[in-house]
Amino acid sequence: VVNAVVSAALDAARAWQVLDGVLDPEVPVLSVVELGIVRDVAVDGGCVHVTLTPTYSGCPATEAIEAAVVQALREAGAAEVRVQTRLAPAWTTDWIAPAAAEKLRRYGIAPPHLVAATDGQPLRFHPRSVACPRCASARTQRLSAFGATACKALYRCLDCLEPFEHFKAI
Ligand SMILES: [Zn+2]
Repeated sequence: VVNAVVSAALDAARAWQVLDGVLDPEVPVLSVVELGIVRDVAVDGGCVHVTLTPTYSGCPATEAIEAAVVQALREAGAAEVRVQTRLAPAWTTDWIAPAAAEKLRRYGIAPPHLVAATDGQPLRFHPRSVACPRCASARTQRLSAFGATACKALYRCLDCLEPFEHFKAI
C-alpha cells in the first residue's frame, strides 16, 4: 500500500478534519464540529482562523474548547491559529447534526428535542417529550433541571426506571 503524500500545508478541508477530532469536554462523545459550534474556518497562509459560537454563554468549557482547538491545529501544522468568538446568531441545539444526536443517545444522553422513531425514520424533532435513550419510552420524568453540567438536565425513565441526562434544547 502506497500512502498518499500528505501536504505540509494545512488547508481548510484538513482543518475541518482536525477540528472534527476535538471533543467537547462536557459531551466527550461529540466533536466541536458535530456539536455545531465551529461556524467558520479560513486559512490564510500559515494562519488558520476559526470562528466559534459557544453553546451556552458563560459555559465554563468555552476557554477549554478554544485551547483544545488551538492545540489541535498547531499539532496539525498550523503556524498560527486565531480563534474568534461569534455570539450572534446564538448557538442552538438545532445545529447538532442528526448523526451526532444518535451518538448522544447511544452514549446514554437524551438528545435535545429528538425522539427515536419507531418506523425506520431517522431521529426527528419533538417539541415536548424527552425520550429515554435506552428504551425509547416517552414516559419520562424530570428529576432536576441540572445534571452533571448546566447544559444537561437529569431525567428518569418511568418504564425501565433508569436515570439519564438530557441535553437541554435551546
Ligand atoms: Zn427507559
